[in-house]
Amino acid sequence: NFVEVPTGYPVKDKTMKLVTGEIDLEQKLEDGAVIVKVLYVSIDPYQRGRMRDASIKSYAPAFKLNAPIDNGGVARVVKTANSSYKEGDVVYGYFQWSEYQVISPQEAKALRVVENKEGLPLSHYVGALGMPGMTSWYGLTLGKQEKGKTAFISAASGAVGQIVGQLCKRRGMYVVGSAGEDAKVDFLLNECQFDAAFNYKKEGPRDALKKYCPNGIDLYWENVGGETLDAVFEAANDFSTIIACGMISQYNTTEPYGVKNIMNIVAKRIKMQGFIVLDEFDGQWVQDFFAAVPGWIKNGEMKVKEDIAEGLENAQDAFIGMLQGKNFGKAMIKVAQE
Ligand code: NDP
Repeated sequence: NFVEVPTGYPVKDKTMKLVTGEIDLEQKLEDGAVIVKVLYVSIDPYQRGRMRDASIKSYAPAFKLNAPIDNGGVARVVKTANSSYKEGDVVYGYFQWSEYQVISPQEAKALRVVENKEGLPLSHYVGALGMPGMTSWYGLTLGKQEKGKTAFISAASGAVGQIVGQLCKRRGMYVVGSAGEDAKVDFLLNECQFDAAFNYKKEGPRDALKKYCPNGIDLYWENVGGETLDAVFEAANDFSTIIACGMISQYNTTEPYGVKNIMNIVAKRIKMQGFIVLDEFDGQWVQDFFAAVPGWIKNGEMKVKEDIAEGLENAQDAFIGMLQGKNFGKAMIKVAQE
């Protein structure tokens, strides 16, 4: 459950609490409802934004106090009173961080059956084939991926960044990434085939971008904000594009970073576009995404790195750890065996 709005980083057993309760799995269901057994739930940076005072409006609803935290995930239908879902179906949707959940007829409308024709691990439907992978695909429709031009991606080894970088590579770009650990940098270079990558904690972004982006930056995928964004404004080329996906360095800070080089937007005619993946969650791009990416993962052309915490008892550590950069790959909780 979410129990207290945090100031700065969330605190274990203070911001959230592990609570136990019982769900009657034999209960008679309302017409259209289902009961699911949750298999994997996602851990995402935007959940920090939902840990706010409910009076503050934003694109995702605030978590209710003393109520379960929820997020995207995959679950198995264990009881059904809904003709669209049969017992045993694996469904993608928004689930509570709980072992079982009764899904109301209204909520059941938003579930999607996971067909998984490729027989991939179901965890992929939380990461590369779930919201973060879709974010990468959709976000890239907002800027050009020109052959030979330079793309720079921050938080590049994370859930979104690793897919963005590999898509830019496929589209012929020169791809550079930053990450906060040497092992993450190795993953980008050796598995994701980035052209260059650096540990921004060892090499400051300003110097590193000069070194690793000798031809400047044409496309910046913004995941972190702060000092990195400032450095990008300096390294960006004329008429470059910044796709603003997130600014995680600002999510837990009580003193926001003051960007100094923003004037470059004018001088260099930079186009900076923010977006939320839910903006067009039913567009043609969704079909394009599912027609392409599962096959690439299946045949090994696209690498997927996941960081899976076992059991809800480890959910708090995993969530707070992700905000601190301890996750290596897509963070999620394995709630139950597939
Ligand atoms: P990640 O898997 O990348 O996990 C978060 C990572 O952020 C950490 O592992 C850490 O990596 C990095 N990080 C944490 N703190 C800082 C900091 N102070 N400065 C720099 N990097 C930091 O998360 P996601 O891939 O799920 O999300 C990436 C971004 O995309 C986030 O900003 C998120 O809010 C955004 N997002 C936006 C969506 C949209 O619709 N607009 C949808 C989904 C995500 P490292 O060790 O490399 O520092």
